[in-house]
Amino acid sequence: MTGIITRIFSRKNKSSSANKTPNQSGRKNNNHEIATSDNLKILSRDQHCISRKNISKNALKVLYKLNEAGYQAYLVGGGVRDILLGLAPKDFDVATNATPEEVQAEFRNCRLIGRRFRLAHILFGREVIEVATFRAGHDQGNTSSTNHDQRPLDSRPKKHKGKDDRARKSDHGMLVRDNVYGSIIEDAFRRDFTVNALYYTVSDFSVIDYTQGLEDLAARKLRLIGDPDERYREDPVRILRAIRLSCKLDLTIDKQSAEPIAELAPLLSHVSSARLWDESNKLLLAGHAEKTWNSLCERKVAQYLFPQTIESLKNSVNSESSQAAHNFIKSALTNTDKRIANGQPVTPAFLFAVFLWQPLQDRVSHFQSKGMPAYEAHLKAASIVMDKQRETIGIPKRFSAIAKEMWALQFRLTNRRSKGVQSLISHVRFRAAYDFLCLRAGQDEELKELAKWWTDYQDADTKDRDLLLKNVIHPDRKKRRSNKNSHKNKPKRDK
Ligand code: ATP
Ligand code: MG
Repeated sequence: MTGIITRIFSRKNKSSSANKTPNQSGRKNNNHEIATSDNLKILSRDQHCISRKNISKNALKVLYKLNEAGYQAYLVGGGVRDILLGLAPKDFDVATNATPEEVQAEFRNCRLIGRRFRLAHILFGREVIEVATFRAGHDQGNTSSTNHDQRPLDSRPKKHKGKDDRARKSDHGMLVRDNVYGSIIEDAFRRDFTVNALYYTVSDFSVIDYTQGLEDLAARKLRLIGDPDERYREDPVRILRAIRLSCKLDLTIDKQSAEPIAELAPLLSHVSSARLWDESNKLLLAGHAEKTWNSLCERKVAQYLFPQTIESLKNSVNSESSQAAHNFIKSALTNTDKRIANGQPVTPAFLFAVFLWQPLQDRVSHFQSKGMPAYEAHLKAASIVMDKQRETIGIPKRFSAIAKEMWALQFRLTNRRSKGVQSLISHVRFRAAYDFLCLRAGQDEELKELAKWWTDYQDADTKDRDLLLKNVIHPDRKKRRSNKNSHKNKPKRDK
């Protein structure tokens, strides 16, 4: 904690202006007029560690250009939070009092996206700077709306002025549209966590805090702004964000923000499967998948993302098989985290293949118990399991197809005849299927020999490969041998 405090307040504070309102500190700038509030805290340039060196050039370009055009523009969200924590931000988000259309008019490389939440994306090659117009919350008791910044409201076309048109809640209290523009202070209070509502401006390089985010950051606390129950109902994805950010940043979820999570997690079933696809990628592919999965399970949230997985873990026939299924998932997640740390590529298809492997096996056994042949049972089970998962998390077809291919290849990997091996090793999914087999072998003694054989085969030269192929004992040869043996060992009938 002291580390963060020293980092935030790392520059020498000669004339402390923290906790002063803009007027008290004599600030006056068109691009940076701050609404007053009881808890407003402003850190001047020398009181925090954010430097333009930590910010992407493109984000700086956007901030300066909006300022030059006469708009307010701030870096906000993860960009500010992560730099204050001494981390490199994943992306940079900008908040402004310009409407999306006004932002678009300033940048040729801009496209507008989203219906529920209209945003401007400014594209710089592969980097996207997300620019959001200040938004007002809904029924905000905690915002002293001082109307210091009414410009976006005034400049909007008349047909957009009806509030109901721009903000709408579903029967479950969920915000299905959130396009009510507002002032910076309103924008701060409609954000999810206090540590995500810190604003940095290039007009005087200060950091503005309306929600005590700096205090929470110093205490390494993730605290929802406003009433947690209401804020989770308004957008249940905040449950996932709480878990994800606490694991990624090593922050403790504040007690009051943590309490309603298990009870309100069922609301995730009202979130669109497309949005849950995006969120699940962020949960699992950010380098902290194992920790995040544990937290999702402990907080009883995982079953609303992976219902079949949790069901099959619960229904394991005995504690040993349950442990093996848990370990299988755990080792896949640990591997994924390691690959990300090493800069190696990862695909969500692999993780979905892992999460759904046990449910797949359960269904295959069920169909086989009804007399269905193994391969047919596998195909039928694979499509049922995947379709069911896609009702919750909308895995795009191109990824679900990869996961299914990896499953089907598990069959083919057991066939080690020369021709099959040649075609398999050049198969586009061979590597993923082989990695999957190795992962399975980690929990299944019987597969160890098979996995080792494929490892040796890949490492071997042509001569050794022939030898490896020759030495394989094929299952039907095994059967024939054992038949012969059983014949031999049969007691002779008395004549
Ligand atoms: P990271 O980008 O590191 O994953 P982030 O906090 O920046 O974390 P983004 O998804 O980029 O996450 O969102 C940017 C900011 O938008 C957040 O910091 C937060 O202030 C606000 N925000 C995002 N999602 C929500 C939400 N569901 N409810 C309220 N505010 C949100
Ligand atoms: Mg971000």
